[in-house]
Formats: sequence, structure tokens, C-alpha cells
Amino acid sequence: MSAWKTVVGLEVHAELETSSKMFSGCPVVDSVEAAPNSAVDPLSLGMPGTLPVINMQAMEYGIMVGLALNCEIPPINQFARKNYFYPDLPKGYQISQYDRPLAINGYVSIELEDGSSKDIRVRRAHMEEDTGKLSHVMGGSLVDYNRAGVPLLEIVSEPDISSAEEAARYARKLRSILRYLGVNSGDMSKGILRFEANVSVRHGTDRELRERTEIKNLNSIRNMVKAIEYEVQRQIKLYRSGETVKPATLGWDESAQRITVQRYKERADEYRYFPEPDLPIVEVSREWVEEIRAKLPALPDELQETFVEDYGLSAVDAAVLTAERAVASFYEALIECGAEAKTAANWLSTELFRLMKRKEIEREDIESIPISASAFAGLLSLVQEGVINQSTARKQVLPAMWETGKQARTIVDERGLAQVSDANLIGEKVDQVLNANADMAQRYLAGNDKILNAIFGRIMGELRGKGDPAIVRSVLLDKLEDLKQN
Ligand code: ADP
Ligand code: MG
Repeated sequence: MSAWKTVVGLEVHAELETSSKMFSGCPVVDSVEAAPNSAVDPLSLGMPGTLPVINMQAMEYGIMVGLALNCEIPPINQFARKNYFYPDLPKGYQISQYDRPLAINGYVSIELEDGSSKDIRVRRAHMEEDTGKLSHVMGGSLVDYNRAGVPLLEIVSEPDISSAEEAARYARKLRSILRYLGVNSGDMSKGILRFEANVSVRHGTDRELRERTEIKNLNSIRNMVKAIEYEVQRQIKLYRSGETVKPATLGWDESAQRITVQRYKERADEYRYFPEPDLPIVEVSREWVEEIRAKLPALPDELQETFVEDYGLSAVDAAVLTAERAVASFYEALIECGAEAKTAANWLSTELFRLMKRKEIEREDIESIPISASAFAGLLSLVQEGVINQSTARKQVLPAMWETGKQARTIVDERGLAQVSDANLIGEKVDQVLNANADMAQRYLAGNDKILNAIFGRIMGELRGKGDPAIVRSVLLDKLEDLKQN
């Protein structure tokens, strides 16, 4: 085992999907569909003489997130100017929050592989405005200010994450919570949700954390995992060869699958923060907080617990089914249609998810698939009643339901897929196969138990996959026993 351990803290930027921007009535538009610079106003362009006005809907969304992340919501909020010059920021400063953020001291609970859970502490979440978007093309740079001024919540974790895998679990959980709250679509490809990973390594003998680097431009959770793993190895190699890790801003080069150094940080960034003079302090009354708390929808953790208690699912299964609200609703609908809880959980999270993946449909879009919950429950009940066997259901009926939109029963009738449980008919097929494959039967009788599955497979083939597996198996064993006696 390596003496080196991974230490990660994540900074997450989540746009809050309000209809207007953080400090003006300018509309918020889709970053891909809208024409560049079609949603701008004097304020988002940083024109002199403009004055910001706080979007209280954005504040409320931010408080919702803070509460969902188990944070304290301090009674006083204050905006601050973060001064720096960059062309995506026309004012020359970003309105952010500094020492009086919206939310502090929370945690996100993640499920680990072994079924246990771990709390990742959330240090703070603060409101700010998003910047414009630069595109570097043909030796020049273009800037789109549609995004400038969009409400943005920055959520900062403590360095409690101890592997790339845990970072992915934290990221997925956070995304899930934001989606449940309906404040952020979680779309990383459009930059609506963005992750930055602070990474360092820790030697078994260390008492303090070591120098960290920060990886930006991570456009998917998968890339974040790869980038963290790569960076951890890079740092270990440096220490092993007697060098040190220098604080740096890094990027992940997806095509080359490697880390690139964007810049080394000579000294701490100097943003000259000071209280934003154009905005009032925001008092967040306890009544307001409680009002918002009362309106919070059921969150993934809560639903997960319900699924464990009410349906007897394991924590891991329940976590899979509650990660997306739409999947949880589909599952609840299956139960309402009379499906057995564990069978339904199994079939949904293996067979249906596999089919959806093949069709490139995201789990969150389960509502759009051509199979309704009641139709899927119908398929499960045919299996339960023994009308069809599991493999026919999986390999033939389910895909046909997807293609045709028909009920399972109809497909089974039309295609003659009903299970064969007639012991006489099965007996004939067993005899046929044993006669034609006398060598296999002999090997079984000579003690080769493994050959049994091959014989079984041939009989199922003769029955076109429709045999009742339990009956086939028992008839086969009886016949082999007879052969042994003779
Ligand atoms: P700054 O104040 O310079 O932005 P912070 O201490 O606030 O830095 O940390 C920013 C992020 O970096 C947080 O998510 C934190 O958890 C993480 N972080 C801090 N120190 C380390 C470290 N040694 N290794 C990994 N992550 C770290
Ligand atoms: Mg930051």
C-alpha cells in the first residue's frame, strides 16, 4: 500500500436558474441556444452610472441550497467587490461575498462503496455574479456577455475528500440536491454547474496538509476523476524525486488526457476585497429562513431513507434510485402498480438502466422513454406469474416493448413467447438433447459437473429460450439420474 494519501477540496460554481440576472432585470438565457450578446443590458456590460439591485429570488434559491446542505444561514449577508482585471469582467470587479457569506458550516453526506456513509463538510456558500465567456479563436478572443451577471452560488468544501472516487460521489450528490431543489439543471457541458478540484497529497507521517494545486476547466465528473488521479500521481512523483509541489492553477487537457500548468502562483491572489458600496447589507430574518425551510421539497437523503424503511432496499440500492427525482418517481409508480419492491428495484436499476444507456438516454430523462411505469410493472408481473421466464423478459420482451410501445402481454401473445412449463414436452426435448450429445452426458456422469450448464443451454435452445428454467433443470437432473442407474 502506498504511504501517500489523496486530499481534495472542491469548489463548485452553480448558476441559479432565475429568470433575470443577479443585479438587474436583464433576462438569463440558454448559453448555447441564444445568440452571443443578445441578453445584455448596461449593468451586465459594466457601464458607468449603473447601479445594481439584488435579485431576491436568487437569494432565496441560495438559502434553499444552504439549508439543503445543512448549513447555518447567518443573519447578516454582505456583498463585496472582488477586484481584478480580465476582459470577461467589464466592471473590473466582480460582486461577490467575502466575510459575510450566505451560508456556512454545512455538510453533504455521501454513500461509500461498502454501504457506509461519510460527511464532507461544506465550509461556505456565497452568492456572486457570473462573468462573461471568452472564446479564443483564430488568434483572437471573442467575448459573450450573456452570462455576465447570472446569479452564481460558490460552494466550498473542506479538504475532507480522500479519493477521486469520493470527489465524484460528492459531486454527484451535490448535483442531485441542486436538481431536486429545481435551482440548477446540473448541466456541466454548458457550464451551468462547474467543479474545481484542489488537490494535495499527504504522507503517512505528515501532521499538516501539504501545498495544493487547483484544477480548473473540468467539464464532466468523469474528467474530474481522471484529472485528480493524474494530479495525485504527478505530486507523488515530484516528492519522491526530492522536488516540491508548487501552488499552481492547472487545467485538464481532455484530448491529451493530461494535466497542463496554466500558471504558477507566485503569491496569494490579491483581490483587494471591500464591502460593495452600491448595495445594502441583507438581513436574513429567522422567519424568512424558516419559511424557506418549510417549502423545501423532499431531498435525496430523506427519500433514500424512506426507500430503505418502506421497501426494505439496501442503502446502496436506495441511493441509486433516489439520485434522480424522476427515477425515484418512476420507481414509486412501479410500486403503485403492484410491483414487488425488491424485484422492481433490481429490474429498474439493471435491465432498464442498461437499455436506456444503450439508447443514450440519461437517467434523469426516464419520463421520456417509450415504456411507462405501468407497462414495465406489467412485464414484471408476467415474470412473477411464470408466464415468461426472466431471460425471455430481458432479451426479447423488454427490447420489443421499447421498439413498439406495446404492452408486454401483447408482445408475448403475438410472438408466442409464453414460457413452456409442460413437463412432457420438456421431457421430449431433454431426451432429444441427451441422445444427440451422449458424450456430454457421459462426461457429466464421469463427474464433470460443469458440463451440466452446457447441456441445460442446449435444451433451452431447443425450447427457443422459453423453457421454465426450474422445470427444465429438474427434468434434466431426473433423466441424468436415470442414466446413472442404468
Ligand atoms: P483560499 O482561501 O486561498 O481560496 P481555502 O483554504 O479557502 O483557500 O481553500 C480553497 C479550497 O481548497 C477549499 O475547497 C479547501 O477545502 C481546499 N483546500 C485547502 N487546502 C487544501 C489542501 N492542502 N489540499 C487539498 N485541498 C485543499
Ligand atoms: Mg473561488
